[in-house]
Amino acid sequence: MRYVRQWIRSWGAVPATLLFTLISVSCVLMLGLFLLWFFPGFIRFHDIIILVVTPSIVLPCVFHGFMILLQRLDRMEENMRNLAARDPLTGVYNRRQFMHLAQIEWQRSNRYGRALSVLMLDIDFFKCINDSHGHPAGDRVIQLVADICSETLRQQDWIGRYGGEEFCILLPETSSDQAAMVAERMRQKIESTRIMLGPESSSVTVSIGSAERSAVTNQVEDLIGRADSALYEAKRKGRNLVMQADQCEYCY
Ligand code: GH3
Ligand code: MG
Ligand code: MG
Repeated sequence: MRYVRQWIRSWGAVPATLLFTLISVSCVLMLGLFLLWFFPGFIRFHDIIILVVTPSIVLPCVFHGFMILLQRLDRMEENMRNLAARDPLTGVYNRRQFMHLAQIEWQRSNRYGRALSVLMLDIDFFKCINDSHGHPAGDRVIQLVADICSETLRQQDWIGRYGGEEFCILLPETSSDQAAMVAERMRQKIESTRIMLGPESSSVTVSIGSAERSAVTNQVEDLIGRADSALYEAKRKGRNLVMQADQCEYCY
């Protein structure tokens, strides 16, 4: 069934319908001629006309219905894949899918000895936003931060919602310094964006920890853990800043 769908997708609906009808009509015609030739009297010549005309009308209709069903199935599959992989509030990857992608990137970077960095981002004083403006306003802030981060990233980078207002970002082929530059760009963009929270517009800030794959990281969880401890250090140092794990005092 999967191969039939792939075949129809690669051919397109109309050519696939025409080809399918042509093959079916040819088969029926050959069967009719075979019977007429070897079993004269079993069918007559005008039976062959009926045998050919009927499938050439019926088959395109049946096939068209089949195509509509396949398209619906494709859409449902796509929706289900998105529901399983994406965070419903922000549209970025959920934690499970993010960790799956992180494992793949980790293995690739290990095998080819390529750089891999991780950013861990947390919105500052987010509880105050929820408490002062309500949860829907808090949700809008989370969405805004996710949008700004996604816009700032390259196509080969991955972003996932790691916790309530925490995002984790994977930067393949990126050194610690380059990752810190990306993080700083993100931090500045978020800080300078105004958002309506209540009657007045205000802005939010984020703290970001960054870490690069190194001799002390044996698995992707270690790398994320190092970025997380750099984030903790950024919070400790006053928030609204980027901290690199390899430049931080208390990071393990
Ligand atoms: P800090 O600067 O230290 O990060 O302070 P904070 O207030 O941001 O503290 P923390 O990171 O612990 O706050 C997390 C809060 O995020 C607590 C929880 O109520 C809220 N939260 C988690 N998920 C959601 C969500 O989906 N929507 C909203 N509106 N709030 C959420
Ligand atoms: Mg926070
Ligand atoms: Mg948090």
